Amino acid sequence: MAMALTDPFDVALRELRDTHGVRRHELRRAQLGEAVSPDIDSRVPAGATVVVDVVLEAFDGGIEVAGTVSSRWEGECRRCLAGIDGEVTVEVREVFRPGGGPDEGTYPVHDGRLNLREMVTDALFAGLPVLPLCKSDCLGLCPRCGADRNHEPCQCQQVQVDDRWAGLRDLLGRPSV
Ligand SMILES: [Zn+2]
Ligand SMILES: [Zn+2]
Repeated sequence: MAMALTDPFDVALRELRDTHGVRRHELRRAQLGEAVSPDIDSRVPAGATVVVDVVLEAFDGGIEVAGTVSSRWEGECRRCLAGIDGEVTVEVREVFRPGGGPDEGTYPVHDGRLNLREMVTDALFAGLPVLPLCKSDCLGLCPRCGADRNHEPCQCQQVQVDDRWAGLRDLLGRPSV
């Protein structure tokens, strides 16, 4: 069974390991694969190239990773369901250390290596639009007939207008009875 030997988010620490104050720039461009969170109505599409531009700096007991994570995102407008996409860039400043993990808000270092994938995914989920809109004044779909009100007023709105005028006619008509 073949194992993936080169994970593009894997970083060998080499001289950074246990060497206080040593810094190294890492620029990685790779596909994360589709990243979806149940709490967010946008996602990182499968084919998107994620750019990780960070500086690694060794300190006593760990490595600080600081910089930016960028990706294209896509989703559906919350109001009209039109397909939309955009770019997101998220600033990161995280600590990797042996034995690190989510309980202490850090990421692990194993065998002199760290893997940026989990940090990248967390950062993008923090930066993706939670409730994306195609435009801030999107009129959305009619809740009754489903028509896209950005393109055309539907019959339902017509009926509401007619109802209002009918009410006014009733009001005006009443005293003359
Ligand atoms: Zn919309
Ligand atoms: Zn309608």
